[in-house]
Amino acid sequence: MPLSEEQLAKNFADIAPALTNDAALLEATKCLYCHDAPCTIACPTHIDVPAFIKKIATGNLRGSARVILDPNPFGHSCARACPVEVLCEGACVLNDRDEQPIKIALLQRHATDYVLERKLKLFEAGKRTGKRVAIVGAGPAGLACARDLRRCGHEVTVFEAKPQPGGLNTYGIAEYKLKSDVALAEVQDILDLGVELKTGVTVGKDVPFDRLLADFHAVFVGVGLGSTKALGIPGEDLPGVVDALTFIEHLKTHPYRETTVGRHVVVIGAGNTAIDAVTQAKRLGAAAATIVYRRGEADMPCYHYEYELAKRDGCGFRFNAAPQRIIANGSGAVAGIEVRTSSGNETIPCDMVIVAIGQGERGLVVPRNDPRVFTGGDCANGGAEIVNATAEGVAAAKRIHERLTNG
Ligand SMILES: Cc1cc2nc3c(=O)[nH]c(=O)nc-3n(C[C@H](O)[C@H](O)[C@H](O)COP(=O)(O)OP(=O)(O)OC[C@H]3O[C@@H](n4cnc5c(N)ncnc54)[C@H](O)[C@@H]3O)c2cc1C
Ligand code: SF4
Repeated sequence: MPLSEEQLAKNFADIAPALTNDAALLEATKCLYCHDAPCTIACPTHIDVPAFIKKIATGNLRGSARVILDPNPFGHSCARACPVEVLCEGACVLNDRDEQPIKIALLQRHATDYVLERKLKLFEAGKRTGKRVAIVGAGPAGLACARDLRRCGHEVTVFEAKPQPGGLNTYGIAEYKLKSDVALAEVQDILDLGVELKTGVTVGKDVPFDRLLADFHAVFVGVGLGSTKALGIPGEDLPGVVDALTFIEHLKTHPYRETTVGRHVVVIGAGNTAIDAVTQAKRLGAAAATIVYRRGEADMPCYHYEYELAKRDGCGFRFNAAPQRIIANGSGAVAGIEVRTSSGNETIPCDMVIVAIGQGERGLVVPRNDPRVFTGGDCANGGAEIVNATAEGVAAAKRIHERLTNG
């Protein structure tokens, strides 16, 4: 039976709900305000964690948000989606005392929600320099770069292939971590600095890359990674087989009930995207949602806490099961997946298969040795996190500014 709207809303509610003011104050007073704070060192954007927490403790939420957002234009989405267990919270000294680490992400959310909800403007565009920069891709890397270039006074035009900006923040992050409206509000804050955005424009197709080099003083490329890799097994093109990014994007851009989910869903792969797909299939109402992975439990590339989340959601796991072919029933719909195990071939019955075995590279060809061209984010680092893409966008803005001002 399909789930009610109410149940679906509950299933996709924020996994880490916001702190109340009192809870945030209490949590902030637990911080030791460490010198050379390991939490700050562990953050790729090096947010001054003790400084922002201290401002929360003194009731200065606007000041706190400024400390966060100055080095990290995506401080709102990082507060919701960062893998803090392996970054700032994982580095908190309280872990060494067998205590719970400070809830840095929730405190960061507390401060950044305060300014986002009130539409407070913390930054402004710099004095006009007359220099123009093109940015390809409106994901965290491109927009972080755009924000800092505007603060330096350069004109910025962002070209984005999709109808909406935000990259995977808008289209890919699990719905229970970050909703598209929050992602878009955060993006709007950056655009309000006077960034020109051209959506629905694919560079390399609608606009040649050379055109950008002719019209702009520098180009930043932050195009992310490409679509999900193909499995390369028979039955992959059956209706009922979908790639994880398409499945998640549909879920994030439509009312929940409009995303088709099977009764028995098999997700192929064991990275973080596979976990996002299997948990969201379960939360959409699949009776069974199972990860099928060709290697063992210890080889899973996903974060341990993501694996735990999927287990808590009641998802199943089949290890050491290598997909061989997807099997159709008499009417051509998915009926199962044949896997090879140590004891021979076996069919796992299912009516939907979600493929999540990693993303390929983007097809955009850019000149490698042109000093006017800069890159960052997933397309440059091979695929990491929002905070890495943001840090790389910010670092590129600094390099571009140096080039534009020093010749
Ligand atoms: C399913 C999934 C879940 C994830 N979950 C998390 C998470 O919970 N936490 C976390 O921190 N990270 C997560 N990540 C990783 C994170 O989303 C990325 O590291 C981050 O979005 C990379 O930012 P980016 O700007 O480099 O690329 P993207 O966000 O991919 O943005 C690139 C943009 O460029 C556009 N583009 C591409 N080609 C062109 C072109 N030729 N012309 C114009 N525009 C173009 C694309 O449409 C896109 O909007 C997840 C990734 C995936 C796939
Ligand atoms: S390591 Fe923990 S206790 Fe120390 S400043 Fe960071 S959050 Fe506070």
